[in-house]
Amino acid sequence: MKITRIETFLLPPRWLFCRVETDEGIVGWGEPVVEGRAEVVRAAVDVLAEYLVGRDPLRVEDHWQVLTKGGFYRGGPVLSSAVAGLDQALWDIAGKHYGAPVHALLGGPVRDRARVYAWVGGDDPGELAEQIAAQVDAGFTAVKMNAAGVTRPHASVAEIEGAVARVATAREVLGPERDIAIDCHGRFSAASSRRLLHEIAPLHPLFVEEPLPPEQNHVLSGLVEAGPVPIATGERIYDRSGFLAVLRSGVAVVQPDLSHAGGISEVRRIASLAETFGAHLAPHCPLGPISLAASLQVVFATPNFLIQEQSLGIHYNREADLLSYVLDTEPFRFVDGHATRTELPGLGVTVDEAAVREADRAGHSWRNPVWRHPDGGFAEW
Ligand SMILES: [Mg+2]
Repeated sequence: MKITRIETFLLPPRWLFCRVETDEGIVGWGEPVVEGRAEVVRAAVDVLAEYLVGRDPLRVEDHWQVLTKGGFYRGGPVLSSAVAGLDQALWDIAGKHYGAPVHALLGGPVRDRARVYAWVGGDDPGELAEQIAAQVDAGFTAVKMNAAGVTRPHASVAEIEGAVARVATAREVLGPERDIAIDCHGRFSAASSRRLLHEIAPLHPLFVEEPLPPEQNHVLSGLVEAGPVPIATGERIYDRSGFLAVLRSGVAVVQPDLSHAGGISEVRRIASLAETFGAHLAPHCPLGPISLAASLQVVFATPNFLIQEQSLGIHYNREADLLSYVLDTEPFRFVDGHATRTELPGLGVTVDEAAVREADRAGHSWRNPVWRHPDGGFAEW
């Protein structure tokens, strides 16, 4: 079998899909994207495709080695995301070729369903109680929300207390049997995160995510040691060596994104690395159905799995949602807050190719907002 063609599709709301075609008629799909930089990743996929076309798609690991290292310069979100999407597509082809779901090729299932959480509150969380109650009614047993909207890194008492009050509201609605996860989105300084962690510890969050922006992860251990709240990070870390550093800092939860951190091949290894630290995997996935399908294949084969993010109804999905480009929605039907393992071959996602080609004609130019503080200075989004 040989790869004959690689195409990319720029799709609303903010996604990029790739389609890898073979001379045996098997097609694999992937989702190589950095949100807000989709066109740049598209160009990177085009460059990497020069190497892949004409080669055997089943040599997934050998291709991963060449794509990540063969250009001499390595790493970073653009290259790692381009490789990630192509890696997903190659695993999809491998599964379809062998007539097996990818999780079977990764050693077989270690669970039959995977717990997922739902987002509430958007970029700037306000009234939450109703939104959380609606997700509980929909069966979810965990939700995640941003700690705060635009916030000074050295936060005021009001900013800290506002965040604490929202977590308290969430806990009140959720009760002791369900979970709330808090995403700081790198908006707080280490000092402010330490105060926030201290204040919300009695509310028992499942984890607090990105209490620091990634370039400050060298001081993350101070936050881990400051109290009992589990610390999570990883959506802006792209390979094992990056995760090794935060694992050594003592994070409880690693959050590689299947579309950013080298795909199924590398996230599988990141999970294994985390296992040696007693840390758990919670793949980041505010993206589309292929990225989620790839995530689920990994977590069905990963012993140290905690919970899976998914984007159904997320605040970013305005023009299209998780199910807009799939023909079979069953793999994404969540029952009692869990995704159910299927035996469909490959990634288990049936892409609506006609819808994808049609949507690509309009494309998108999604960019994240640039926030400012009241004094005009740049603010972390
Ligand atoms: Mg996050």
